[in-house]
Amino acid sequence: MSVSKPPVDVDALAAGIRAGRRVDVSRAITLVESSRADHREAARALLTALAPSTDSPTVRVGISGVPGVGKSTFIEALGTHLTGLGLKVGVLAVDPSSVRTGGSVLGDKTRMARLSVDPNAYIRPSPSAGTLGGVARATTQAMLVLEAAGYDVVLVETVGVGQSEVTVAGMVDTFLFLTLARTGDQLQGIKKGILEIADVIAVNKADGDRETEAKSAARELAGALRMVYSGADAWVPPVLTCSGLEGRDVDHVWRRINEHREHLGREGLATKRAEQQLEFTWALVRDELADRLRRSPGVAAIRDQVREAVLAGDLAAPVAADRLLAAYDD
Ligand code: GDP
Repeated sequence: MSVSKPPVDVDALAAGIRAGRRVDVSRAITLVESSRADHREAARALLTALAPSTDSPTVRVGISGVPGVGKSTFIEALGTHLTGLGLKVGVLAVDPSSVRTGGSVLGDKTRMARLSVDPNAYIRPSPSAGTLGGVARATTQAMLVLEAAGYDVVLVETVGVGQSEVTVAGMVDTFLFLTLARTGDQLQGIKKGILEIADVIAVNKADGDRETEAKSAARELAGALRMVYSGADAWVPPVLTCSGLEGRDVDHVWRRINEHREHLGREGLATKRAEQQLEFTWALVRDELADRLRRSPGVAAIRDQVREAVLAGDLAAPVAADRLLAAYDD
């Protein structure tokens, strides 16, 4: 059944968001997740109306770690701690696997039972918008919607898969990496790249039998990091221990996140966000160009023929690329 819905009333939606109405927040996030051309246009108008700024007071935090490290348990504990302080908390997710499966376990409400019924929390699972770029675009805009709705903290959850961590690091102020007790050789198992983007590191599940092990793993990791980071005013990512399950030392982690923001300073934070916007701008352009390439009738007309010729070894890749680009430009 095709019922044509009335066009989006952007002004009314923006007013609803500013008033903090959940239905409007949800509606707006659905809009920014949509790939329909008219929705994308409305989403753009909406974001312009919401006039996001680089000095919004919202604290943007990325949280990453392998499946099973305890992300959702930790977010439940941190989120409840924050709403207990009177803050409004949004939880978003970037899950590249949702692109393939069409579903996401990240940000799943059933995994955060208390937070999902907390009136001061808003949880949204990862969009499955086609590509990591698409997911990132939707999540970045969802974050702006939450900020306009007066959310004080936005937590963006992601798994340690492919580029997703780097993508999330590019949209938040502070990046928190959750890990499990690892010592010696196991430390090598932590992806090098992750240590380069982590601002705060927490060894999770520091409870019961694992507490001592977690503490010594944290000390070892902290020592390793001090060797990597030098320079008087460099921020050396602190390594803490915590237990999301028992809610233990989750407040310490939060304090370190705030210290990282203080270290950036007002200007440093504004610069970081402005640079992220510039990077995001180019990501949007690359995304759109890739889309146009896919939709181009000229390219579609010769795509199969070029494919066969390249596979058969009759056409060199650079020549094939030139032909496809020429077909696109026509
Ligand atoms: P995620 O996949 O990273 O979101 O991990 P979950 O939060 O779903 O947790 C995975 C498993 O680890 C669950 O069985 C949790 O109960 C358990 N878990 C999570 N946090 C802790 C913790 O701090 N301590 C202990 N002992 N177990 C935890």
